[in-house]
Amino acid sequence: QGKESGRGDFRIFETRFNDAARQRMHLENELRQALLRNELALHYQPLLSLGDGRLAGAEALLRWTHPELGSVSPAHFIPVAEDSGLIVPIGAWVLEQACHQARRWLDDGLPLGVMAVNLSALQIQRDDLVATVANALTLSGLPAQHLELEISEAYILRHAERDLRQLARLRELGVSLALDDFGTGQTSLGHLRRLPVGKLKIDRAFMADIDRDPAGATVTRAIIGLGHGLGMTVLAEGVETEAQEALLRAQGCDQVQGFRYSRPLPAAGFEAFVWGRSGRGDTPYWPVAAPH
Ligand code: C2E
Ligand code: MG
Ligand code: MG
Ligand code: MG
Repeated sequence: QGKESGRGDFRIFETRFNDAARQRMHLENELRQALLRNELALHYQPLLSLGDGRLAGAEALLRWTHPELGSVSPAHFIPVAEDSGLIVPIGAWVLEQACHQARRWLDDGLPLGVMAVNLSALQIQRDDLVATVANALTLSGLPAQHLELEISEAYILRHAERDLRQLARLRELGVSLALDDFGTGQTSLGHLRRLPVGKLKIDRAFMADIDRDPAGATVTRAIIGLGHGLGMTVLAEGVETEAQEALLRAQGCDQVQGFRYSRPLPAAGFEAFVWGRSGRGDTPYWPVAAPH
């Protein structure tokens, strides 16, 4: 009897496994077409300076709208793009689009600061990454100092020495580097010191209850202190409430990003957001923690 039910369980498992595998293959095939069919787009989320409320940059975030599946979350398709290698052509497309958009905004007088673009582990490991980035800068005419490349902390450890060389080559182009999702990986302090990274982005997992839980607030304070000690800019992601902002401000955090200020927006929405808050010609200003 035990055997019977065991086999039954296995069959259920097998069916589910096949469903998941089939779904993934389907997604991969569709993603392969996505670039050609023009289904990919970038949205932009403002990065704000906490001190004066000014725009410090925009993070480009990939969006995929499939004709039947509708909008597919990056949490679903980025891993598929990475496993299949599709992230390489897609990532090159993202870099080009983001650089062109940044160039247009600067030409238009929008005080953008940096355009931040996410890189995946696979891109970092490829020898042609520097050429791909250089190419995007040349084609768009974007000065390198306006491009910031984000690398997730979780990726950086696996090939430490090789990655270090790659990051150094990117720095030589004049672009800046940010360590994304910081606090979730296991970067040793010694290694962190050697990374040519100018910014730490505190993972939004730590925002959850920093204003209620003293332990949470201790973690953000420690990361801010660490970043500043190493001469880095520190940004907090996922800021949703005024209380979180107030705490981060008190802790000396430099920059913020989150739904409290804006969700990621299509290019036109981002422009409307910036100019709507400033009046064209003026410097955009977010009354972050506005005097009430
Ligand atoms: P990430 O780079 O850490 O990007 C920040 C994510 O947090 C975005 O999710 C953004 O929408 C979300 N977010 C921002 N503020 C808030 C907030 O206040 N509350 C909450 N709950 N979420 C907030 P998104 O766009 O779904 O992207 C997820 C991840 O997918 C990104 O995390 C990044 O790792 C990856 N990704 C997105 N675009 C690209 C890309 O072009 N290339 C690569 N390699 N990865 C990308
Ligand atoms: Mg990012
Ligand atoms: Mg992030
Ligand atoms: Mg994150």
